[in-house]
Amino acid sequence: MGQTRDLGRRIELHSMDPHCQDISLGLYRQIHQGRSGYLVHSYSGVGAVEGRLSAIREGLAAHAGMVPMEGQPGLLEFPCGNDHEKALRRTFLEVCKHADDEIGGALPLVRHDKKGECELTVNSEGNGRYRITAPESSENGARRIRAVARGFAKLCEMNVDETDEAVVSFACQTEHNSLMGSLFFRAQNVRSAMQEDELSAGRGVLAAPGSQDDS
Ligand SMILES: [Zn+2]
Repeated sequence: MGQTRDLGRRIELHSMDPHCQDISLGLYRQIHQGRSGYLVHSYSGVGAVEGRLSAIREGLAAHAGMVPMEGQPGLLEFPCGNDHEKALRRTFLEVCKHADDEIGGALPLVRHDKKGECELTVNSEGNGRYRITAPESSENGARRIRAVARGFAKLCEMNVDETDEAVVSFACQTEHNSLMGSLFFRAQNVRSAMQEDELSAGRGVLAAPGSQDDS
């Protein structure tokens, strides 16, 4: 029982995991000395659960750019100590979609863009600032740069530069290359990402964080 109480607040749920006997995996947030630490947990007792949990944890570390939280075994945190919760929840769900051996490492910051018929690149300018670029020869490049920047702003709760719509930045002024790589393809198609959000809200996942707390 004590274990349940110590999990913290559930911020996301992946249910019926097809890669591990339909178990449910939760992402929990705990606050330790003012910093947010995150725990991947399952209530399932199936034998394969420990292996799956550690694969998801490692995947989350790689794809969200998180590190072990000092003094809190099993917990991960962002190096900046902030939440970035929207981006984290989405990255968690993306990682959970894959079988253990398909999770892999961080994703590249260069991607082909179907709508722009060109390559788009996310360039770090330091201090949490990122510039989206396309080849100058590309006809739709400028339009797609603006769309992807707005996509990142929504998905990662970033700010679009007031004077340059190709630039987005994190308020924490810290680099988050892995998060940018993980959500790049989402930013390219932000409308479908938003539709998935609505579906997920309909399932009650977003509406009921922490509702599983024992009492
Ligand atoms: Zn940060």
